[in-house]
Amino acid sequence: MKIICIGRNYRDHALELKNDIPTEPVIFLKPDSALLLNNKPFFIPEFSNDVHHEIELVVRINKLGRHIETKFAHTYYDEIALGIDFTARDLQNELKKKGLPWELAKAFDQSALLSPFVALGEHNIQDLHFTLEKNGQTVQTGHTADMLFSVNEIIAFVSQYFTLKIGDLIYTGTPAGVGPVAIGDRLTGYLEGVEMFYCNIK
Ligand code: ZN
Repeated sequence: MKIICIGRNYRDHALELKNDIPTEPVIFLKPDSALLLNNKPFFIPEFSNDVHHEIELVVRINKLGRHIETKFAHTYYDEIALGIDFTARDLQNELKKKGLPWELAKAFDQSALLSPFVALGEHNIQDLHFTLEKNGQTVQTGHTADMLFSVNEIIAFVSQYFTLKIGDLIYTGTPAGVGPVAIGDRLTGYLEGVEMFYCNIK
């Protein structure tokens, strides 16, 4: 199983980090050892003083595929979840400055929080609302209509490079409002108003 993540997929978030608006999807991977499941706590790693939360819609691939056409991409998933792409922002900024890959800042243990999956059902995947609360205050609000690259376009793009396998996860990018977590914080994620996960920061 692999975790495919999309960077800068919401205009407001790209701009808040002073990045250009991408003309094609920005892709990075996390290993399966990054998963944080079952509302377990997140422990701030020693190598960072600035770990940020990034709430994201997550799609699980349910069929083997490569070179998938955008118009068929919707047949490759039927379940969605929320996740947090925890990011060591200080480390990422250093790596970006040096033109180096982001993995140390993005793919470390526990960096991929994942909620349980729910059926997409009749929902339009590009019309979903999700929010992240920190200590009861809303810090990030996302509407999937605002994605620069739709889920189906992402699947078409990445499947030109990577064979998609059953169980692969796609983290589809975060909206604006990313920020640091501190020991004692409690994060809670909501999809269409329904609580999907919580996470205590240790
Ligand atoms: Zn992200």
